[in-house]
Amino acid sequence: MLPGLYVHVPFCSRKCPYCDFYSISALDSIDDWLRALEKEAQVYAKTWPGPFETLYLGGGSPSLLTINDLKTLFETLEKFPLAENFEATIEANPEDVTEEKVKFWKSLGLNRVSLGVQSFNPQWLNTSLSRNHTVEDNKKAMDLVASVGLNLSLDFIFAHAGQTPQEWTAELDQAAAGWADHVSAYVLTASPTTALGRALAAGVAPRLPGEELTSELFLLTGEALAMRGFERYEVSNFARGGAVCRHNLKYWHREAYLGLGPSAHSFDGQKRWANLSSVKRWAVALAAGRQPYEFIEELSPEQVRLEEILLGLRLSEGLAKDLVKESERLSDLIKDGFLIELGPRLKPTPKGMLMADGLARLLA
Ligand code: SF4
Repeated sequence: MLPGLYVHVPFCSRKCPYCDFYSISALDSIDDWLRALEKEAQVYAKTWPGPFETLYLGGGSPSLLTINDLKTLFETLEKFPLAENFEATIEANPEDVTEEKVKFWKSLGLNRVSLGVQSFNPQWLNTSLSRNHTVEDNKKAMDLVASVGLNLSLDFIFAHAGQTPQEWTAELDQAAAGWADHVSAYVLTASPTTALGRALAAGVAPRLPGEELTSELFLLTGEALAMRGFERYEVSNFARGGAVCRHNLKYWHREAYLGLGPSAHSFDGQKRWANLSSVKRWAVALAAGRQPYEFIEELSPEQVRLEEILLGLRLSEGLAKDLVKESERLSDLIKDGFLIELGPRLKPTPKGMLMADGLARLLA
């Protein structure tokens, strides 16, 4: 299996209230980030010679990068050759997408855009998501991506305070009506460290849907998209025509990937490490010739088994049956419709995927 290459672009014009990814709005640090990235690339160029099957520019907001920034970045990435038939994705915010940029992305070899439309309902864009873009920006960006023939994935967030199944279905209809052959749909969560989490704790934001409605919306997502030709291949990811995200599948299949940039994670098949979540500290460590790690770990065989169970329960392809012991509990989970036994594999049903973490604990 060829490895994947991830680059974390940690810049956003401002922080969204629900976001707990590492990002900063100090856009004047982009040059420092590019210089440090060049140093980090030199560190790995010999030990990770490639070719890489996938490239993923994630963030943050990679679409904020100017054409000149991208030119510099891709000069650095020349150290990491891509395989034939590679997949190369850029995450984009709708308000950043212009004709000039999509044409340039294509000229660089990028062939997939993961567009953070988040919603087709202005109410959610303005309130719980508090995004910079409008529904019109979504449509314009989708058309621009389609006009140059790049593959398109749409990112959604659902389960807003007051959202109904009917309204969510209408949003999914709009997603499926266009060029996109991939949809990611995540439940809105409010980690305590985010502005939304703090507002909810202080009682100044409307309460998010409870477990019952969230489950209904989750199951409805799969059903509505299935009617439009999309198959759920992971808890939150759907593809039609086989257009799965090959890069993200590497994470779930425990294949090797190298992550560059602050807060990026890497896995070499045995060890896993994460970079420091700070442009400054990451750049200082690289300049001093130190490894810019937040942590590095090697899992024991038992930890690997548990991870394989958890990851398998997130995927429609499931897991090898021999990873779990035969037990009354396993038979009950099959009988109750959480799992299906198919030859040598156990596959989660949508109901099982909904509680993949809980099932993993039961089967461990
Ligand atoms: S644009 Fe994306 S990465 Fe940036 S703050 Fe918003 S949700 Fe987070």
